[in-house]
Amino acid sequence: MQHMNATNDTDDSAAISCATCEACCCRLEVLLMGEDDVPTRLTAQDQWGGWVMRRLEDGWCAALDRNTLRCTIYERRPNVCREYQVGDYECMGERLRLLPSKPIHMHTS
Ligand code: SF4
Ligand code: SF4
Repeated sequence: MQHMNATNDTDDSAAISCATCEACCCRLEVLLMGEDDVPTRLTAQDQWGGWVMRRLEDGWCAALDRNTLRCTIYERRPNVCREYQVGDYECMGERLRLLPSKPIHMHTS
């Protein structure tokens, strides 16, 4: 969920890039913590009463700009999103699940 700034595509070691992704991780449930400060209109309660980022019918987080696939609240994004690392296990899993036709190794610059 670093697809706003962290493109990780500056050299040949870049295997995974948010720039070539479709914000897969922004379809995951984002649990909100007490210290998170996101606009209330973008939140919802889950079935257990916990607060999460609201998702729209297309599955993406309500804070995602559908045209640019960038986070519209990047400076205020939840901690869960801040801790999500491009190229880590979950990122790779989401990419494989949602972008099965895209190669893992791709050079974008
Ligand atoms: S799934 Fe990974 S590559 Fe795609 S936007 Fe999220 S962090 Fe970036
Ligand atoms: S808050 Fe931003 S980074 Fe986090 S899931 Fe929503 S659009 Fe993605």
